[in-house]
Amino acid sequence: MVTIPHNSGDIGGFLLTWLPILLLLVLIVLLWRTAANMPRVKPAPVEKTANGSVAWSDVAGLDEAKDELKEVVEFLTDRRRFEQLGARIPKGVLLYGPPGTGKTLLAKAVASESGANFYSASASAFVEMFAGLGAARIRKLFDEARKNAPAIIFIDELDAAGSTRTGGGGYNREHDSTLNQLLVELDGFAERADVIVIGASNRLHDLDPALLRPGRFDRQVHVAPPDLKGREAILKVHTRSKPLASDVDLVRVARQTAGLTGADLANICNEAAIYGAREGVQHVRAIDFDNALERVIAGLQSRRVVTDKEKRILAYHEAGHALMSHLMGSMMPIHKVTIIARGDALGYAYYLPDEERYLHTKEELVDVMKVALAGRAAEQIVFGRVTNGAASDLEKVTAIARSMVFEFGMSDLALSRTLRADNYALSEETKTMRDNEQALLTDHAYNEAERLLRKHRAPLDRVAASLLEYETLDRDELAKMLHDVGAESHASETVGTVRVLERAAE
Ligand code: ADP
Ligand code: MG
Ligand code: ZN
Repeated sequence: MVTIPHNSGDIGGFLLTWLPILLLLVLIVLLWRTAANMPRVKPAPVEKTANGSVAWSDVAGLDEAKDELKEVVEFLTDRRRFEQLGARIPKGVLLYGPPGTGKTLLAKAVASESGANFYSASASAFVEMFAGLGAARIRKLFDEARKNAPAIIFIDELDAAGSTRTGGGGYNREHDSTLNQLLVELDGFAERADVIVIGASNRLHDLDPALLRPGRFDRQVHVAPPDLKGREAILKVHTRSKPLASDVDLVRVARQTAGLTGADLANICNEAAIYGAREGVQHVRAIDFDNALERVIAGLQSRRVVTDKEKRILAYHEAGHALMSHLMGSMMPIHKVTIIARGDALGYAYYLPDEERYLHTKEELVDVMKVALAGRAAEQIVFGRVTNGAASDLEKVTAIARSMVFEFGMSDLALSRTLRADNYALSEETKTMRDNEQALLTDHAYNEAERLLRKHRAPLDRVAASLLEYETLDRDELAKMLHDVGAESHASETVGTVRVLERAAE
């Protein structure tokens, strides 16, 4: 019991009674604040957002990702239909792509369109916590979601917890315990169809493979930076509530913003409105967009905005791949070719073989090399010089040529395979001979690629111009554009491909 002095006029008695309590209180507050300010402790990273905020129509472009996620909404709203047929509803969907491309936005749209409760947390906050706390938070997050099902759990920056890269010391252990808890939770609600986990990560390759196993994040959806059409759609979404002057041409803005993400574009629209408002105009004008663009792009110093010159080189490089793929017939059919950056690649050609085959002839492998080398060849032909843009192509080609000589016995000089043990036992002559054979094969493929592209310079120009205009071309568009260009492959009877190609598609 605390006795309160009756005589409040007696200052000394008052202090004597209250001072210790006051000091204690101050001490407690100080301690508590210090603890809160300790670098590794963050406020609870769990956040529950109200539903109904993001609709599908707020997400522009990203059609493939949207289709995939609309299915998730169906799982949540109509799961009987799937369960009746014994379908196992996926538990985890992983969205991967560069920052600002709309991963969080997509997850929110799933939550609001499905009427599910939305729980979001960032994995980086978990692993920064004191020992054991990260794992406890994960447990709490999943418990809450289960209690309030149907629910979506969104875990942002998944690579922070599930990265294959190892940090040092304590961080590492905490990282592991957080990851383990996450795996336990993912495995623990196999029977629950009304809780779906959506993860987001900038890079797929950095993730611990354990996270990607069946029953965990087994659906992976690439969220790519927008192409021209996508950027136009995003600009439309973000100008919906902004009155635009008649001189604003969103297609033009889209053209000027190659390489930028949805977040950048949203930012540009907002900045433009701010410029306009400052000037006291009633409508956002083209000049406001110009100013906003300048400002936003200047603020991106560290990030790449592809210059027009680079774009031209990229367009020819990828057009080289695409045209050669066409010339080689069915060997490496192009699924899509684009000059929009993805991962480390500034542009890429995505091949999709019609059927899985396991046998391939020497001629076919040479064709594959031609397709892979055609990017470099196109640069050489059109610009008279080459860039560092072909590094991964060359890696691919080297691997194929090496396998041909060292494993498949496809060298003209010696029908033999290099056994692992041979690496030490081989004579220097044999080693040199095989290295030469490998180089010859590669050079031959490259020369052929250059010859063929020179011969078909007009279609090469056509595809490159089209890529510059639309940034992405799919298989049908390419086929239409090249319908009058015949095949030039020597691999008349195609027996097989793949394996190699699958890797080539990366
Ligand atoms: P991420 O999670 O991939 O880093 P966000 O979803 O947080 O990106 O995107 C940030 C903001 O950028 C969004 O809130 C939205 O305003 C805008 N944005 C990004 N992508 C799109 C898109 N495809 N359509 C419309 N707005 C987008
Ligand atoms: Mg995000
Ligand atoms: Zn290439």
